[in-house]
Amino acid sequence: MKAELLYEGKAKKVYLSTTDSERLVLSYKNDATAFNGKKKENFPGKGRLNNEITSVIFPYLHEKGIKSHFVKKLNETEQLVLKTTIIPLEVVVRNLATGSITKRLGFKEETPFSPPLVELFYKNDSLNDPLINDDHALLLTNISAEELRDIKAKAIEINTVLQGFFRSMNLILVDFKLEFGLLSDGTIILADEISPDTCRLWDIETKEKMDKDVFRQGIGDLITVYEKILQRLEARV
Ligand code: ADP
Ligand code: UDP
Repeated sequence: MKAELLYEGKAKKVYLSTTDSERLVLSYKNDATAFNGKKKENFPGKGRLNNEITSVIFPYLHEKGIKSHFVKKLNETEQLVLKTTIIPLEVVVRNLATGSITKRLGFKEETPFSPPLVELFYKNDSLNDPLINDDHALLLTNISAEELRDIKAKAIEINTVLQGFFRSMNLILVDFKLEFGLLSDGTIILADEISPDTCRLWDIETKEKMDKDVFRQGIGDLITVYEKILQRLEARV
């Protein structure tokens, strides 16, 4: 199913598919990184958990009318996706203030954002993924102003769907990051992953952090909380 390794990232390996030049195999690794790769640790089982979690979330979005690159889960750690040219933007949606925005702009922890706040970061490790505005995004990518508006609107729509989805599992969707890519016909589509690596999820009752913040902040066991997220997702579907 997988042929040439195209790219090895911090959390996944990307392979060409042997059978279809328009498809890729994403292989989820056990590595966790934070602070732009400065903190790094290997967690046996993490790749399987994120592959499984993403393989529940993308089909759920599809049911709700939100298309993505996801084709199917292949095995414990791998999934087949549509090949895209990734737009080098990290589209972050925030419902509550935490993380970088509290440090950058001084928002008090847990300040609610209603409507949700959308931020754009330039996906560029050597520049530390800086926060950018819409004008920068148009200069730094090949997309039009209308396509950028559509991406931001899509991110808000995904937030609405996922907030309800996670709420039904007693989880608060605090914030998350999305990536979009261009298919060969120029259509823009949701890509990459949606997992506890890329979302902040808190238990509604206890406010327990159940995402990569347990690793970033050294406040818990990553595998234990990711397992709990998968269990709640599986209990729901
Ligand atoms: P990073 O590059 O930030 O270290 P990962 O380790 O998750 O991230 O690597 C996965 C890479 O695959 C990312 O660069 C991501 O943008 C890219 N990617 C995700 N989905 C697709 C897709 N459908 N087509 C092409 N590239 C993709
Ligand atoms: N995020 C991500 N990849 C990144 C940066 C952020 O998936 O390279 C996610 C992160 O998990 C959180 C949201 O985007 O859900 C907002 O992150 P923030 O800007 O607060 O960054 P951090 O505090 O992680 O530096």
